[in-house]
Parts: sequence; structure tokens; C-alpha cells
Amino acid sequence: MLFLTPRTGPLTQAVLDQGELLRQLVDGLGSPVGVVLPQAVHANVAAFREVYRRHHLSGRIHFAHKANRSSALLRELAATEAGVDVASLGELQHALGAGFTPGRIMATGPKDHAYLWLAARTGVTVNADSAAELEELAALVTAHRLPRVRVMVRLSGFETTGVRVMSRRSRFGVPAATLDSALDVVRKREQQLELTGVAYHLDTVAVAEKAVALEGCLAALEHCRSLGLRPWTLDAGGGFGIGYLADEGEWERYTSELAQAVLGNRPPLTWNGYGYGLRAESGILRGSLALYPAYREVSGAAYLDRLLGADAPERRRPLGTMLLDHMYDLDVEPGRALLDQCGLVVARVVEVRDDGGDVLVRLAMNARDVSLEEHGVLMDPVLIGRTPHEPAGVYLLGNLCLESDLITRRKVFLPARPQVGDLLAFVNAAGYFMDLTANTALHQPLARKVAVFRAGGSWHWSLDEQYWPIHPPPEPP
Ligand SMILES: *Cc1c(COP(=O)(O)O)cnc(C)c1O
Repeated sequence: MLFLTPRTGPLTQAVLDQGELLRQLVDGLGSPVGVVLPQAVHANVAAFREVYRRHHLSGRIHFAHKANRSSALLRELAATEAGVDVASLGELQHALGAGFTPGRIMATGPKDHAYLWLAARTGVTVNADSAAELEELAALVTAHRLPRVRVMVRLSGFETTGVRVMSRRSRFGVPAATLDSALDVVRKREQQLELTGVAYHLDTVAVAEKAVALEGCLAALEHCRSLGLRPWTLDAGGGFGIGYLADEGEWERYTSELAQAVLGNRPPLTWNGYGYGLRAESGILRGSLALYPAYREVSGAAYLDRLLGADAPERRRPLGTMLLDHMYDLDVEPGRALLDQCGLVVARVVEVRDDGGDVLVRLAMNARDVSLEEHGVLMDPVLIGRTPHEPAGVYLLGNLCLESDLITRRKVFLPARPQVGDLLAFVNAAGYFMDLTANTALHQPLARKVAVFRAGGSWHWSLDEQYWPIHPPPEPP
């Protein structure tokens, strides 16, 4: 059996133990149900702050909203010290309505005129992607007689003179080499724009790549100061990640068996010989595994700690020390990492069928409702309330009339063969897997989202949009 056991935190485990509650939710609201656990955000924010303390740094921890559209999670985060990074007009409105004051909000992402206007009108910091965007913003501030707006410049395409570190092309940000074009706008428009810092965001797990970007931003800040500007913040973006699996050995074993299966040296582990990026060419393994590293030694706040402890590739001093020397604030924008253990998707088994030696399990949900596969995260679901019996390898199929609607393209090994009516829970799904791709294809319903929380010694639930972090609810008079 090739299990990929998920890493479950105490709150996730406690909810999995509430089988009756989960069953009522699915019975009452339909399958699947997205369950968010707002109370789990506090530990994640605290873990990041602890890293700041260890490095004697200050600055803001912004939650990257795009990871989940939940109101409950956002409102609970508003009740912490965290800020929020919004990437659309709708997200900005949502953040303002959840209780984030403008000083705690950063506007990133592709921006249109209305988004820029609301950001400028409310006094949110605008993290700009180009000199043209800064021009547009300054013109808008003038035209509508708005107060001066705080801006950051997002940089990309960092170069090193030393060892060449591969860096992917990004469609976002000002190429570091052309920073001056953006600074020209800021200097010309100083009545409208106040430069508070520079930023990067790299969607990579490689510390070396991020170290290059961080040092590049330190150099950019010095350059700004040499021009008489006074920025004080370095925004290191997100991408700190989550370790999804409990056991490194399981992960190693699974990936090497997958390679063997692709080579034809063992029975297939995937639907139609899908290789997750690997392929066999005349008996030789080619390609590379296009998967998220589901087992991670270092992720989340610990990854930030690792990055700050790493030496700058050129100056050979720890990056955290360099930030401290200049007394710069460090801002971060974790999305996924702040949602570690903050939600699960629960679905009902509607059919179990034997098919040529395989067991096919159809769920009342589709691949869009839990986009683990699309994001390359391999992690087993949890079979609720059934004691381990005879383990079974099964393929999980969705409810769309499409060949491609597979919840998993791999055989998933469960501790017992599921039966019709059983519930499967996909844990740690709050970051990106819950609603980023969900849609109503084939008129299948969108998953309802509920907040599950503990108050007054017992479990409660509410619709996501009904949740505010003010429980226990007042007693009736
Ligand atoms: C998506 C995004 C993030 C969050 O990334 P995670 O990998 O979820 O931490 C942060 N900043 C920007 C600009 C983003 O686009």
C-alpha cells in the first residue's frame, strides 16, 4: 500500500473526529461542503511573528486573500494583527468590509481604474507592477483631488554576478534593471505618490532564488535612498508553502514507485498511465515530476526563518542581519502558509464499482471542488468514521459527465474499501484547493461553505458569510 498520509493539526483532527457533525453538514447542505476553520489562523500568524522576533525585525504579515474567498477566514484574520494583500476590486471591498482598516491593506495584482480609485480613495498602499501603473495612479489622484497615496514598486528579473541562479520570467513587476523608469515617475509625482518600499513575490520553493530577489531589493532600496527617496520597507511576497504530508518515507516511496510504474516495472499507479510529468522513452525515464513537494522539511514560518538566516549571495551576510542593519521593515504576503490546517472539503461516496481489477469510487463532487490534482498536491483523503479494515486502492471519480473529471488521476490507497454513503474529507484544503477553480459546470451545485468553530466548550457551525469572530454568541435575555 502506498499511503500518502496527510499531516493533520490538532484542530483538523478534532473536526475529523466529529463524524456526526460532518454528516449533518453534508446531509443538510449537500455534497460537497467546504468547511473552514477560522480559529486555526491564529497559530499561523503567531508562528510568523515569532520568526520576526527571532530576527529582531518589524513589519507586517499580509494574508494573500486570493488563496481563499472565505469571509469567515478573512474576518478572523482581521481580528488578528495581520494585514491583507488584495488582488482585485472585489477583494479590496471584501477586506474593507471584513474590518481591515486601509493601513492594513496592500493592493497588488492586475489593476483597473476602479480598483486604483478605491485604493487611493481609502488610503490603501498600492503595490505597483509598472511605471505606467504609477503614472495612471498619479493622474487619478490629481484628477479626483485625492490624498497622496503610499506606493511600493514590485520588482522582478533579478540578476546576480556570481553563480547564476535560474529565475523564471514573470509577467508581474518592473524588471530590476529598469527600476529607474518607475522611480522617475515617483520623483516627478511626489505630490501624489509616496514611495514606502520595494517588493518581490516569487512562486518557488527555492530559497536560493528568493535570496537573490531579497538581496536585489536591498540594493534597490539603497539606490532609492541615493536618489533622495526615503523608502523603509522590503516586501518579500509569499510562497512559504505548506508541508502536506506526515511522513517523508511515504513520499519518497510513492514517487519512486511512480517512476517504476511509468517505466512499466510495476502495475500502474495512475489512470491511463498518466505520469505527472514523467514519461518513458525506450526504457529510460524522461521529463520531471510536475508536482508540489507535498512532503516538506521546512515550510511556512520556518521557511521565512530559513530565508532570513541565509547569506545574501553577493554580500555573504545573513539577509535578516542586512535588513536589521538598515532598520528596514520586512513585509510578507503569505497566502497558503497562513491557511495551513484552516479547512477541509467533505464529500459523499455515491457509487463504488469494480472495473477490471480496479475499484472506482464516484463522489458527489467534481475535480473543481477540490483542486488538489490541478495544483499538483498528492495527499490522501480521510475516510470518515470507518475503522481500518482491509486497505483498498481506488480511483476517485467526480460527478461530471466528462472523462477528465477525476478527483485523483492516481490510485489512492484507503484504510478500508469505501461504501456508498461514506464521507471522504480532503484536509488542509483552505489554501487554493477550495474555491479557486470551483464552478457550476453541468449545473452541478457550488459547494456551500461553512465555518466550524468551538465556543463555550462545544462545536458550532455557521454559513461562511454569517460568521464573525465574536463568539460565543450572546445569551438570550
Ligand atoms: C499569490 C500571491 C501571494 C501568495 O502566495 P502563496 O504562495 O500563497 O504564499 C503573495 N503575493 C502575491 C503578489 C501573490 O500574487
